[in-house]
Amino acid sequence: MPDLAWQQCINPQCRATYDIAQVLHKCDKCGNLLDAAYDWERLSVPHSLDEFERRWATRRNPLDFSGVWRFRELMPFAPDNKVVSIGEGQTQLRRAPGVAQYAGLDPARLHLQYEGMNFSGSFKDNGMTGAFTHANMVSARRVACASTGNTSASMASFAAALGSIRAFVFIGSGKIAYGKLCQALDYGGVTIQIDGDFDDAMERVQQVSKQLGIYLMNSLNPFRLEGQKAIMYRVLEGLGWQPPDWVIVPGGNLGNSSAFGKAFVELEQLGLINKIPRVAIINSTGARTLSELVNGRGIEWNGGNVDDSIIDEYYAYLDAENIRAVTLASAIEINRPVNLKKALRTLDFTRGVVREVTDEEILDAKAKVGASGIGCEPASAASVAGARKLRDEGLIAPDETVVCILTGHQLKDPNAAVNYHSARGEAFEQAFAKYGVKNARFRNMPVQTPNDLDRIIEVVEKA
Ligand SMILES: *Cc1c(COP(=O)(O)O)cnc(C)c1O
Ligand SMILES: [Zn+2]
Repeated sequence: MPDLAWQQCINPQCRATYDIAQVLHKCDKCGNLLDAAYDWERLSVPHSLDEFERRWATRRNPLDFSGVWRFRELMPFAPDNKVVSIGEGQTQLRRAPGVAQYAGLDPARLHLQYEGMNFSGSFKDNGMTGAFTHANMVSARRVACASTGNTSASMASFAAALGSIRAFVFIGSGKIAYGKLCQALDYGGVTIQIDGDFDDAMERVQQVSKQLGIYLMNSLNPFRLEGQKAIMYRVLEGLGWQPPDWVIVPGGNLGNSSAFGKAFVELEQLGLINKIPRVAIINSTGARTLSELVNGRGIEWNGGNVDDSIIDEYYAYLDAENIRAVTLASAIEINRPVNLKKALRTLDFTRGVVREVTDEEILDAKAKVGASGIGCEPASAASVAGARKLRDEGLIAPDETVVCILTGHQLKDPNAAVNYHSARGEAFEQAFAKYGVKNARFRNMPVQTPNDLDRIIEVVEKA
């Protein structure tokens, strides 16, 4: 009898399958990405999504407590006793009228899915619990990732909590926000700073992992994407199981967008939703590979027959011109997204779109998110800047229901926020000129005052 879950190549010409417990980075036969795949007919899946809500009543069971494993029937690749969970996915879907107004939407129709509430402060915990569960299934002792910061923070946290697994973090030099670096160091991850950028670190970690047999935790790991599907399940839950019209997400390595598309397609196949939201993926103009390939060079999923020559040509051009990703949204400062093809599949399945926003638009949107009492790191705010752009274009109607994913916590990158609000003149230029940011439209400047009661009272009364 074949297994209920296996790994499968996404290339329809190949469709090679592999055992669920095999450790692979890519398809052995054709080099494409792999999915976790299931025999849904033989698995038991709830007949209606609201059955998942009942688990909230049994929160002392760690699997029911987890915002990911609560939905375990929808990612059934591991036996319950192999699941590694430390309470990930306790996040919220919140309305934010001020942000809605900024984006030009009906105040009741814009929702922010705040993934900064995960224990390591970003959505990455949703995926890490999946990958650690798989690592646990195959008895891995060492794990590694390349990271712009949040992946390493999450991985190091899981490894430390588990105790039996050593974490190796590969980062580029000077390319990591302190709020993230401090986590990897504090959690005891072995942190290897490479003289290069994220794309360099990514290449090296793959080589090293292969040579030393270290379990790779990067987002080409299909089990991370399985966990990240749960972000969409929680969005649906927050909306009373009614799919929104749009889900808007920043695009870096394109793991989230890939996972979201897979989640929706599976839910539709299972008859659990009757409408698929459109997914909008937002690049920064300083790291615009997906936008260029899709909008500039016409690349498509094309039933899985992606025209690789378009990608190869563009990457050759980046190399020839020595073009590197540059954006202050460091979590999406990536020019060679590993999940590119899966993201193309999401765009195809969901009638999705790709847009780019400037770093100035990102910072302004971030200030609006902050002013709503939530806050996020710069990359996350690309989703809100993207919502505003799509609304401006008229692609999103004002009464459509829109969910923006806030991928990471405000405190990940306090420098960006403090400089935005308080740096002036040369200090502002030094912080932002290389990102093309000229203005801080929503600056909330601290007021300098002498230590004098009358003067302080004056300031307070004037505010
Ligand atoms: C990793 C990350 C991203 C990029 O997500 P992908 O799935 O790689 O596209 C965006 N924002 C934050 C805060 C992240 O940590
Ligand atoms: Zn293949």
